[in-house]
Amino acid sequence: MYNLKVVIIGAGIGGLTTGIAMRQAGYQVEIYDRAQELRPAGAGISLWSNGVKVLNRLGLGEKLAAIGGEMNAMEYRSHTDESLSYVDLRPLFEQVGQRPYPVARTDLQTMLLEAFGPEDVHLGMLCTGVEQDEYSATAIFENGERASGDLVVGADGIHSAVRAHVVGQVDRRYARYVNWNGLVKADPELCDPNLWVLYVGDSKRASMMPVGGDRFYFFFGAPMVEGTQVEPTYRQDELAKIFQGWPEPVQKLIHALDPEQTNRLEIGDIDPLEHLVKGRIALLGDSAHATTPTLGQGGCQAIEDAEVLTRYLHTTNIGVADALNRYEAARKDRTTELVLKARKRTSTIYGYVPEATQQWYTDLKQEPPETVIDALAKVILAGPMG
Ligand SMILES: Cc1cc2nc3c(=O)[nH]c(=O)nc-3n(C[C@H](O)[C@H](O)[C@H](O)COP(=O)(O)OP(=O)(O)OC[C@H]3O[C@@H](n4cnc5c(N)ncnc54)[C@H](O)[C@@H]3O)c2cc1C
Repeated sequence: MYNLKVVIIGAGIGGLTTGIAMRQAGYQVEIYDRAQELRPAGAGISLWSNGVKVLNRLGLGEKLAAIGGEMNAMEYRSHTDESLSYVDLRPLFEQVGQRPYPVARTDLQTMLLEAFGPEDVHLGMLCTGVEQDEYSATAIFENGERASGDLVVGADGIHSAVRAHVVGQVDRRYARYVNWNGLVKADPELCDPNLWVLYVGDSKRASMMPVGGDRFYFFFGAPMVEGTQVEPTYRQDELAKIFQGWPEPVQKLIHALDPEQTNRLEIGDIDPLEHLVKGRIALLGDSAHATTPTLGQGGCQAIEDAEVLTRYLHTTNIGVADALNRYEAARKDRTTELVLKARKRTSTIYGYVPEATQQWYTDLKQEPPETVIDALAKVILAGPMG
């Protein structure tokens, strides 16, 4: 289709990537976000090769490589400092044709925002609902303003306002654990600079991976009841207590991190949705399929959504609603599978059934690296770029 006008709600990874892709397809695009200033939630993100391939296609490959860390291997170690598994990831890159890039979220957000053009992102615009008729779709904002186009894309995250129009009320499910994350200066005493290390034990984990700018993205995870809050000042002490007795590099990491810059998030997801679209309204990214981050695929799926949605609008000419239905058909099973897989992995990692978690620690020692590589490759190659 030609000459479409696209209204996108949300300027996160999903919204901005969609904006860039739609622009390149020749469409007029407006992005609206409720934030007064765009600040990514979280410190880092691992973009697996399926996400990277889409960004390559959008012409962002070189810039992404410049902000990405060089992660060549992953290692699981126990909380008593025993190596459980070591996987050289380079055979994976050979198999799928592209390395992944762990990146700092601010670097990624800046790259996407610059590629789209910050002047076309309307900030301070809280979307409260959408409506549509046979010819157009309209986003309605809290301040009374409205924005109409041929379609509205709800890329407005896990608590999406657009989603209610498509599928009604959907509540976030708490995943029963807290994630702390941030960035520290790369230091070989913490972790080999080309390695992604994960310490696991007691249904908890602590991890570091390299991102550009000579830094490590770190995260911790531990089971926790819902509703706990700890002020930034006390987060270092909280982590020291929870990970007391863990190996030296974990202790050094806790010592090195800046508690004021350490995010503390209660993790959740949503049940797979019956529909991702309704007429001229499409859901994309976390609004469509928010997932627990135990596969590192949430952001990658948002990027894939952007590619597939744009492709159907661009390559078909029956009508907008028809293209959106094709988008739903292409994306629903893929994203449902990953949300459920991540949910299962979350339950294993975080001790929902303690015996299963213990078994997993044992299994890690026995799993051949090729099995890990094959599982990762399968997910990557099932993406829209193959
Ligand atoms: C701890 C953690 C680690 C993760 N690690 C990875 C990883 O390694 N790899 C990976 O691929 N994914 C990862 N993810 C998942 C990834 O962060 C998300 O899937 C991704 O950020 C979703 O992008 P999005 O654009 O759909 O939504 P968001 O990033 O949530 O963006 C939504 C935007 O919409 C705006 N908005 C919300 N409501 C409204 C409204 N009513 N009106 C206007 N604007 C609105 C918000 O301000 C925001 O800017 C991780 C997630 C977490 C929590």
